[in-house]
Amino acid sequence: MNIILFGAPGSGKGTQAKLISKEFGIPQISTGDILREHISRGTELGEVAKTYIDEGKLVPDEIVIALVKERLSLPDCKKGYILDGFPRTIEQAEKLVKFADIDVVVHIDVSINEVERRALTRRICPNCGKIYSIADKYIEDCESCGAKLIQRDDDKLEVVRKRIETYLSQSEPLIEFYKKKKILSTVFSAETPEETYKAVREIVLPFAKK
Ligand code: AMP
Repeated sequence: MNIILFGAPGSGKGTQAKLISKEFGIPQISTGDILREHISRGTELGEVAKTYIDEGKLVPDEIVIALVKERLSLPDCKKGYILDGFPRTIEQAEKLVKFADIDVVVHIDVSINEVERRALTRRICPNCGKIYSIADKYIEDCESCGAKLIQRDDDKLEVVRKRIETYLSQSEPLIEFYKKKKILSTVFSAETPEETYKAVREIVLPFAKK
């Protein structure tokens, strides 16, 4: 099954992608993670991407489209994959049609106020990638591997606001795009990731046997 997880920054799409990946054994392809990996490895592409990411802007379409196209050609994508954070523009979605056959787009709907609050309280493990919220419970170290949690540079207030603006102007139009294609399913983000996952699971399950 080939899935797109779509939502505003901080909607919880990364967490949901990890849950699907774990249950169904298909890879989570996060363009944000791929770009951050380039940045931490100090590649040329990473240097270019960083200038956009640090300002809450989108990395140019041709760069991310090429990354995704290459990633989807790897053998682990044969049985399916979850695209997390791609496409984010109409241009990306139009190009994706040419090299991927998407079964369903899961739109995780959440209010903009909530998006801001979640991004600001998000912490990630730089070692294993686990995502935490310090909104309800303050923790400093990863519960899985013990590494010190960090806040992404682009989760700071100024950048978060810019990312939300970018989402509204460039990514939100994709909702109509996929509605017209009749492959969009919307889930309202619940109190906990586990609750949201119940609804997400119902949507993706029928495609699991494909
Ligand atoms: P994410 O981890 O999905 O929130 O992505 C972090 C940042 O990486 C975004 O704010 C963008 O600057 C960049 N990025 C990730 N995915 C894309 C994409 N599909 N198109 C353009 N830029 C992207």
